[in-house]
Amino acid sequence: MNEELKPQIGQEKIHKEEIIELPNVILNNINLERVIAGHPWIYASQILKISPNVEAGQVVCVRDPKRRFIGIGLYNPNSQIRVRLISRVREKIDKKFFIKRFQKALFYRQRYLSNVEAFRWINSEGDYLSGLVIDVYKRACVIQTTALGMEVRKSDIVEAVCAIMNPEVIIERNDFHAREFEGLEQRKQLLYGELPSSVQINVNGVKLYVDIWNGHKTGWYLDQQQNCKIVAGLASMFKRPKVLDVFSYIGGFGLQAAVHAGAQVDFVEQSKAAIELGRKIAEINDVSNQCTFIEANAFDWLKEKSSLSIGSRPQYDIIILDPPSFTRNKEAVDRAMKGYKEIHIRAFKMLKQGGLLITFSCSHHINRELFLSAIVGAAADTNTLLRQIMVLGQSPDHAIMPMVPETEYLKGFIFEKM
Ligand code: SAH
Repeated sequence: MNEELKPQIGQEKIHKEEIIELPNVILNNINLERVIAGHPWIYASQILKISPNVEAGQVVCVRDPKRRFIGIGLYNPNSQIRVRLISRVREKIDKKFFIKRFQKALFYRQRYLSNVEAFRWINSEGDYLSGLVIDVYKRACVIQTTALGMEVRKSDIVEAVCAIMNPEVIIERNDFHAREFEGLEQRKQLLYGELPSSVQINVNGVKLYVDIWNGHKTGWYLDQQQNCKIVAGLASMFKRPKVLDVFSYIGGFGLQAAVHAGAQVDFVEQSKAAIELGRKIAEINDVSNQCTFIEANAFDWLKEKSSLSIGSRPQYDIIILDPPSFTRNKEAVDRAMKGYKEIHIRAFKMLKQGGLLITFSCSHHINRELFLSAIVGAAADTNTLLRQIMVLGQSPDHAIMPMVPETEYLKGFIFEKM
């Protein structure tokens, strides 16, 4: 990064000429403290009064019931979240604004996530830029806009990305359902440069091909990058361990064990494309003969294998469980809890004594305690004693704001079977 561009934290200058008249959104007292504390979402029910004729996507000035300034945000009358606050000072929202904020965000990543080739540069609420995600895979940038206010500022955003990163390619991966909540269509397109035939990144000594055009999320589960290193380290404590990587996607975890610990790894994943890419990745890392890629429904596969009689039942030194979110809403919590319990029961039956279970939940409506209770329930049902080795979360580039509970979603644990 250009030294001159390095942000000076705490130097928030407001230039007089930049102060422009903005429409006002006056809040009532509902959840007012939450907003003042830093939560950027303002729902319709929190609004007392709003200036007439405010247009969708426009910048608004948010004030408390006594008309005191709180911050500025982007307005969308077609979303449950009417305003998303993006700044605590009065400033113009233009290319310069994005350059300044992107530099700050980059500085934070450089501090807390050094030596990576791929990272989440902008993490929406976690960077107080609600509705914007930017992921970097070496010279490729992938943008997601989940809010109208960001969507209509895409050209400023792209110019700011170019000014700081000088990327070879920028693509837009807005092909996900949550866009509907903002009245936005799903879309996937090239925004800048040319689409490369493949993108390869190095994650802790393992080469990974990333499909930024068709892969899950923006290509990879970047939130697990830091945990990949932890898995590599733990696997190395075993001598040629047997590893089971369930819900493996392209094999991020298991490949770390294969490369760094000479592990023999079984990958279970239902996506054909992910399995195929995983095989290619194993090849370029010279570990094909250590890897077995199984295209299957993990629930069926775990049930079948764990029900085999002792002797023919596979036994592993390390089992990784990293399922997709089981809950889209609060109503699905009970079913999700049953799902978590079931996969853990199966896993405990196939985990050797002294072996490690590395397990994750990314379900928004299941907090750490609930998740833990499913694991403990499964341990009790299988007569398994556990020792907690480590508590895990999302990589620091998936920044968490403590006053915005929604920014923390990935919960993980490592247990040893006693
Ligand atoms: N561990 C991976 C991320 C896993 S995300 C990594 O670190 O990169 C969850 C994965 O589970 C996705 O790849 C998804 O395709 C897969 N999946 C979802 N439901 C499944 C099922 N019932 N059986 C097998 N795989 C499933």
